[in-house]
Amino acid sequence: MKVLLRRQKTLILAFIAATVSFLLGVTLPINLRANQPLKPIQAQVLTVSQSQEQKPISNINQFKQAIAHRVEFSQQALAQLQGMRFQSSTVPDQFQGTTIREAKLDSQHKAIALTFDDGPWPKTTTQILDILKENNIKATFFWVGRYLQTYPEIGKQVAAAGHAIGNHTWNHQYLKYNQDGAAREIDRTSSLIEELTGIQTSIFRPPGGILNNGLAAYAQKKNYAVVMWSADSFDWRTLTESLIDNVMKQAKSGGIVLMHDGGGNRARTVKALPDIIARLRKEGYIFVTVPELLQMQEQELKRQETAQK
Ligand SMILES: [Zn+2]
Repeated sequence: MKVLLRRQKTLILAFIAATVSFLLGVTLPINLRANQPLKPIQAQVLTVSQSQEQKPISNINQFKQAIAHRVEFSQQALAQLQGMRFQSSTVPDQFQGTTIREAKLDSQHKAIALTFDDGPWPKTTTQILDILKENNIKATFFWVGRYLQTYPEIGKQVAAAGHAIGNHTWNHQYLKYNQDGAAREIDRTSSLIEELTGIQTSIFRPPGGILNNGLAAYAQKKNYAVVMWSADSFDWRTLTESLIDNVMKQAKSGGIVLMHDGGGNRARTVKALPDIIARLRKEGYIFVTVPELLQMQEQELKRQETAQK
């Protein structure tokens, strides 16, 4: 609900900005590429409308025509904005406030989500980004707030590449938290994510997968989907070869794979990743983000409901 309100607010803002721009005689160069984070679009709209010059309109009919034309144009732009994938890190309503280990997909849909925790991190995050780009894959990154504060440029790079972003607390500690403590860990991280990337994330992963120390409970209360995993690579403690085996043995349709791009030396993960991708692809998997995986489940449920009617 909160996300919907935010989205409506954003749409209204975008609409107002678009209308103003068109009245000034401006054509919007909005990049409607999927996954485009929100803020840059708004920023673009406003910057363009300020920098363009006005065209003089000589008579009243011309003026009316121009307005009619531009209203139509802005309606089209609005429709496009509504139709685009606004927010790559938002999950469908039914999953907000729940805990997820995998998505329920039928066996025809061999989709799997690669997730990377504990970044942004120097070198390894960028290496993983390069591998994902080479393979044309979108993944999901769960960030630690204080690392994002230290490496904001790496974070921006990940977001700009269109990957989904999740919250992994500010300090990544295995402590017990009261409500205020949990709020500090989670709210601060989400605020920084939004400040740097424009992304309002609705996915949270508890450090260490701990569900009973106050963090997951707070996240659920705030309507995050708490995202666990169905396949643990154990990349933090195992050799490259067994890391690949771990993933392959546990891979399944609707699965969520846990790996790490930060928080320590992740050279093994970087080394294993191209192999993991190649093998999963050979088995017929497509790669999606966690929000996309959940959207697939939602769509499948809708299809089943329609089929039953
Ligand atoms: Zn972690």
